[in-house]
Amino acid sequence: MTYEVNEETLQDIINIETKLFYPLTGFMDSKDYNSVINEMQLSTKEVWTIPITLDVNKETFTNAINKEVLTLTFKNKPIATLFIEDLFKIKEQDIKKIFQTDDINHPGVKKEKSRFPFRIGGKIEVIDKEILKNSLMPKDTKKLFKQKGWNTIVGFQTRNVIHKAHEYLQRVGLEFCDALFINPLVGWKKSGDFSEQAVEKGYKKMIEIYYENLNVHFQTLKTQMRYAGPKEAIFHAIIRRNLGCTHFIIGRDHAGVGNYYGKYEAHSLARKILKTNSLGIELLLLKEPYYCNICKQMVSENCCAHKDIIRISGTKIRKKFLNNETPSSIFMREEVSKEILNLKEEMFIK
Ligand SMILES: [Zn+2]
Repeated sequence: MTYEVNEETLQDIINIETKLFYPLTGFMDSKDYNSVINEMQLSTKEVWTIPITLDVNKETFTNAINKEVLTLTFKNKPIATLFIEDLFKIKEQDIKKIFQTDDINHPGVKKEKSRFPFRIGGKIEVIDKEILKNSLMPKDTKKLFKQKGWNTIVGFQTRNVIHKAHEYLQRVGLEFCDALFINPLVGWKKSGDFSEQAVEKGYKKMIEIYYENLNVHFQTLKTQMRYAGPKEAIFHAIIRRNLGCTHFIIGRDHAGVGNYYGKYEAHSLARKILKTNSLGIELLLLKEPYYCNICKQMVSENCCAHKDIIRISGTKIRKKFLNNETPSSIFMREEVSKEILNLKEEMFIK
């Protein structure tokens, strides 16, 4: 019995196999799934905030009832074996538990609603090791950090091109830790987000000029964006812990979209979880950096109380690029803007 998976599921399989999603060893069964959406923990009580499940069509679901294994294929090539442990159907109201909204205009909700409600849980075993090629492997990053002699490494998540606010957060991270691991997410993102090339090219230029000879490692992370805000912030921290980071930055509206989540809701959730649990990684809960016209530099509300300020707006930066214009140097390094502008229509995800 076989089942053809899509690109996002293929990536989940890869991320389970590489231990990026440790301690997961397969797709969640109903026990873990319900525990995650209701309690933000696995059935083992370990913190976990985003369900990782395999959805299948009704025919496969019905046929799998008395079977022990399901061979997962991608482009008709067998890639993994799933040892069937559980078959379950998710409920309509689960979506709200995951995203705190069931608004179809929310890109994560929309994507989740497009999946089948039928789920199969169980351990997986990768058959085709080729799929792991060029993957971000926790064993490799941990080895690299050790070789470099870095004891404390701060992880930085982003899905955007680097602007001055992110630069500020990264430098704060470097004040705390031996090294900075810039780890942009490049899996499925909504249309209108910056493309993988734009993010990568901008960062390469930034590192070449401004982070030259610093302890900075850049590598992309492939997993889909869920836009689940606070819960996804915790999920992002767990992934970075698995990659060997000791610290992780959570800024303003981490993994948020539109106005679905509060500015510092991820900070509140993190504090709440950390009261009774350990994540195995320190969280740097940082305030939004902005430019102060009086201090004449990037600041945050923790170190400047002036009112004459300019907020770094991702929307404004995007608009400038859409019009083929260079964003103000208050927002972004000119060398970085130039690299991104050179990409022309490849700047954004269509
Ligand atoms: Zn000021």
